[in-house]
Amino acid sequence: MTQNLYYSTNHKAPEVSLAEALINGQAPDRGLYMPRVIPQVDKKAIENLRHLTYPEIAAFVIGQFSGDTFSRGLLLNLCKDAYDYEVPLEPVVDRHYVMRLDQGPTASFKDFAARMMARMFGMLMQQEHRELVILTATSGDTGSAIAHAFFEIPNIQVMVLFPPDEVSNRQRKQMTTLGHNITTVAVDGQFDDCQALVKRAFADKNLKSIPLTSANSINIGRLLPQIVYYFYAYVRLSKKDEPVTICVPSGNFGNMMGALLAKHMGLPIEKLVIATNSNDEVPIYLQSGIYQKIVPSRVCMSNAMNVGHPSNFARVIDLYGGWIDESGKIHKQPDLNRLRHDIWAISISEEETRTVIKEAWQKHKLLLEPHGAVGWAGLNHYIQKEKAKGLMVTVETAHPAKFPDEIEALLHFTPDVPQSLIDVEKKEEHYLKLPADYSAFSDLLIKQYSR
Ligand SMILES: *Cc1c(COP(=O)(O)O)cnc(C)c1O
Repeated sequence: MTQNLYYSTNHKAPEVSLAEALINGQAPDRGLYMPRVIPQVDKKAIENLRHLTYPEIAAFVIGQFSGDTFSRGLLLNLCKDAYDYEVPLEPVVDRHYVMRLDQGPTASFKDFAARMMARMFGMLMQQEHRELVILTATSGDTGSAIAHAFFEIPNIQVMVLFPPDEVSNRQRKQMTTLGHNITTVAVDGQFDDCQALVKRAFADKNLKSIPLTSANSINIGRLLPQIVYYFYAYVRLSKKDEPVTICVPSGNFGNMMGALLAKHMGLPIEKLVIATNSNDEVPIYLQSGIYQKIVPSRVCMSNAMNVGHPSNFARVIDLYGGWIDESGKIHKQPDLNRLRHDIWAISISEEETRTVIKEAWQKHKLLLEPHGAVGWAGLNHYIQKEKAKGLMVTVETAHPAKFPDEIEALLHFTPDVPQSLIDVEKKEEHYLKLPADYSAFSDLLIKQYSR
């Protein structure tokens, strides 16, 4: 098998192998890595997936991109290890389904990407007899998803910095009860202080002896696993050759990029519906052709989607022949007609999000949290406006139990908490405390990781 190469969306960095793209994260010219060749999956191959398990489908899809970086058997083992939880497809009405991507250890869809990326990183480091230290600052959910994903992965150490006053008890416990290769540090300050410490460490020449890296959300290793569940939903729900409409509630546009790549690989996605909260820069762009990032981003209930300039949008534009740089400037317009043909986008207001959480429960006994509600609302707008029929799947990206206050206020009950979140309550916490001071932080890094 010839190796697929990965280029940068800014076109000023060398093409690299998958292994290099994984370790680099972002390309040196600040662009995002894209596969030079989008692998094609024909109808027969799709039919062959129908009776496979989720990990088997994952190994097939990711294997299309990984060449011989990992052997087939090894990749399957990594997928089995990463995906040891359910992926429910909940029927709602007609042929409309909600795919619940909230059954992983941190009850967020980010588990799918983070767990697989962690295992690919770990395997590369083992193969090359190297070690990595992943450094990240968090104000809540990213830190726990990263910590859980890399927990007990060989050759990888993780340090998470968090502002104790800005994370909830449950978020803190999700990070601090792991131990083993996960170190958590409460920094006496705010999220910005944590992030400043991390940034300075990455740039610090005195820390050269420590192989520091970030587990950035734009890493190609996070994108590939997000293609898988669209194949899975399709082969579980469709009749032979039946097209499907997919709806993705979107913030940084990584999840929708997974669906878009699935479409370009040959999965018969008739239309990709993108639903944003009040951060409507992309729906406006698709209408007008004018892109204007929103600074600062608008604060909405669906807080993981409060993104005024989605980084993965550079990949969307690139896939349609255009070029937008990391600052949001469009150097070359993509084929807007083709983009509009494939993608239908809408912004959902806060008021409508609340109404939809109530209506979905009253009409269908469908329990949604704010992110999933934005998606469900977007899909229903599309169905009405375009008189669309047939198989439709929208994704729920977080467990409703992560939004007890919103659900309680709207539906007057508290959602059941999944076992993974309950277990955390009983475990013992361990974390270090540090002033928001760089020399104290760099001393800690040297003491902990320098060889
Ligand atoms: C990150 C996140 C999103 C947004 O996903 P993108 O890939 O950034 O578009 C949506 N919902 C939840 C719960 C998230 O954590």
